[in-house]
Amino acid sequence: MRRLRLLFALPLVVLPACASVQAPAPSATESRIEADRLLTDIHVLAADSMEGRRTGTPGSARARAYLVDQFRGAGLTPFGTSYEQAFTFVGRDSAQHNGVNLVGLIPGTEHPERYLVITAHYDHLGIREGEIYNGADDNASGTAALLSIAAYLRENRPRHSVIIAALDAEEMGLQGARSFVASPPIARERILMNINMDMISRNDNDELYAVGSYHYPALVPYVARVASRAPIRLLMGHDRPDLPPGDDWTSASDHGAFHAVGIPFIYFGVEDHPDYHEPTDTVENIQPEFYVRSAETVLDFILEMDGALAGQRPVAPSAASSSNSRRAASLAVLPS
Ligand SMILES: [Zn+2]
Repeated sequence: MRRLRLLFALPLVVLPACASVQAPAPSATESRIEADRLLTDIHVLAADSMEGRRTGTPGSARARAYLVDQFRGAGLTPFGTSYEQAFTFVGRDSAQHNGVNLVGLIPGTEHPERYLVITAHYDHLGIREGEIYNGADDNASGTAALLSIAAYLRENRPRHSVIIAALDAEEMGLQGARSFVASPPIARERILMNINMDMISRNDNDELYAVGSYHYPALVPYVARVASRAPIRLLMGHDRPDLPPGDDWTSASDHGAFHAVGIPFIYFGVEDHPDYHEPTDTVENIQPEFYVRSAETVLDFILEMDGALAGQRPVAPSAASSSNSRRAASLAVLPS
């Protein structure tokens, strides 16, 4: 508990790989992520032929066709007859737009009626003034990792059911995530938590952030355990409301829509870089070795939570408020 309280007191917590020897470190020596597949997928999604994957464009449809093929190849179960879940929304331009989420299921072995929802947005900015915004890091990286994670979990079945969701129209205001949360394919109460990936393929300091434990302190021990054995520097932070504008990432990507309705989340992402939302966010500028380790770390966290949750949310929805955070923390149980 003392360590837990100390963690709360720090705005940012750095957990070096040598901080703990609680568990063996399988990820340091053997990757469960297939690197070749991961890198192939990010190359395809960030190719010029995808034209920046802007919602509603032919490039978006091309990316979606590729993703549908990969969902099918991985053996994901659709809800209904198709992976595609279409939605409409009014954009910042006051016009109506059409988006399409892709959603597939991996049934759990022990708690099939309880769900982890893994998300990454596949849309980006498209073409502006003749320049393609390829969005390799943002967010072909999260989308390709989603595919690799799905492939692993299909072969190594989780205890809880896992929903794999490639979301559309994040760049237009988390629209795909809002649509998913408004009408999920299963009862919202059965969603234990959201794990979101958005920009995970590059960082000069070997750092990846796990954002959200400030709001859901019961998640701190699990993030800490994964950080202690991660092949990367996994940091907590970027989730406090008293941070300077832009540094609080609580609503910065699709996890914000889950958090808005009280569903616990952890968001994985890197610090902004000079190519953020620039045409230079190309696949040549990702860091392949970092990227593989980053995806491996996200998978490790998913497996950690799948092993720990036993059909229950890590916190009661009402415990997200700060007044209840001490009680929420007391409910956290370190897995043996
Ligand atoms: Zn993004």
